[in-house]
Amino acid sequence: PVPEGYQTLDDARLRAWLAGLPHLAAKLGGDSAAWQIEEVGDGNLNLVFLVRGPAGGVCVKQSLPYVRAAGESWPMPLERAFFEHQHYAIAGPHLAGLIPQSWHYDPRLFASVIELLSPHRILRQELVAGHAYPQAALAVAEFVARSAVLTSPLAQPFETVFAHSAVFSRNVALTRVTAELIFADPFEDLVRNRWTTPELDHAAAAIRNHAAVRAAVARLGHAFLTRKEALLHGDLHTGSVMVSADDTRVIDPEFAVYGPVGFDAGLFMANLLMAWFAQPGHATAQDNRQAFADGILQQVRLFWQHFAQRYDALWQAHASGDAWPARLFDSPATAAAFATERAERIRAVFADALGFAGAEIIRRILGFAHNLDFESIADRPTRAAAEAAALQLAEHLLLHSADIADIDTLLAQLRQDT
Ligand code: ADP
Ligand code: MG
Ligand code: MG
Ligand code: MG
Repeated sequence: PVPEGYQTLDDARLRAWLAGLPHLAAKLGGDSAAWQIEEVGDGNLNLVFLVRGPAGGVCVKQSLPYVRAAGESWPMPLERAFFEHQHYAIAGPHLAGLIPQSWHYDPRLFASVIELLSPHRILRQELVAGHAYPQAALAVAEFVARSAVLTSPLAQPFETVFAHSAVFSRNVALTRVTAELIFADPFEDLVRNRWTTPELDHAAAAIRNHAAVRAAVARLGHAFLTRKEALLHGDLHTGSVMVSADDTRVIDPEFAVYGPVGFDAGLFMANLLMAWFAQPGHATAQDNRQAFADGILQQVRLFWQHFAQRYDALWQAHASGDAWPARLFDSPATAAAFATERAERIRAVFADALGFAGAEIIRRILGFAHNLDFESIADRPTRAAAEAAALQLAEHLLLHSADIADIDTLLAQLRQDT
């Protein structure tokens, strides 16, 4: 049942609603009848409108009472817009310049008004098109590092963190989507699962029935639901990153919840790696995509290195929370123990991230929500070959995440195997 006062926005309702909000109408400028409105939602869940007037633009995102990608047969509570807004309110102050500005939230319409990003494009589409954005991975790494330290009890009093965690612990509908779609569904017989068939039938059966793979994914699902380390974005794939030549922003934090830091890092790396595996499927007579593919692996490396370095630096600079009281480690005799702890912690996040990356790859190839990277490869055997190679990596990551020495070891191995 849809709450009283909710109605799905359309062109006329949106125009009238914005015209009644003076600070937003002023951003657009001119006569509301002349504003240009287009609905551009291409994600799995929501309506997204871009509105342009003579003075500027805004982006309006509204929850639908069902999963957009599935239709009305898959109901989904509207509250996700509230949690997206809460992420902008609570994490936003730590993430200036890395996310859109957030201007308005309407609790009746479950709609928010945020900065229109233009001329930005979605990173995933750009990776398919072969357009390079050398700064993108650094910005996403900065986003993950800042979120990981600054929303956590390393940097904040635990009372503040507990209050924030309590807000996002109510984000149950989308947390259930993650718990099921990533950590369980790919291993169950469900009609919403699919894969490239018949080419992948054998590989799919092998990995779905692999007991140690199942156990590794289940262990990560356990960590996701119990280890409340920091506020996660929760859906940090390359479709949640918008890029321009000189600017990168992370959008769509509706899955926000406290969880293990390696989750966001792992999802982002997994989606870059899938973009890399897909490149041969995008080759043309003019461009075999080899150089562009190498650039994607460089992005994976830059992402991890920048994340690790910034996590360490931010921890040292903001170690005023209740967890790991750094004041106890500020003498020459104790400082080394703090440095050792930071290095071990980053090493543990790396292992977590590689495991979560493996789980993400599996669910994108065998589960409900697939990727444009592979889906846009028209030739089915070519697509299946790319997906099969990615599945092999996923299995390796899930079974050996703790033994992979560092990011360069992983990338060298990938270059060699293909
Ligand atoms: P969903 O939760 O349904 O995935 P997203 O927040 O990812 O919705 O937005 C869907 C699409 O809308 C994005 O892929 C992008 O093309 C467009 N979009 C979203 N936010 C903005 C924005 N602030 N500026 C411009 N376009 C946006
Ligand atoms: Mg999205
Ligand atoms: Mg910037
Ligand atoms: Mg979304």
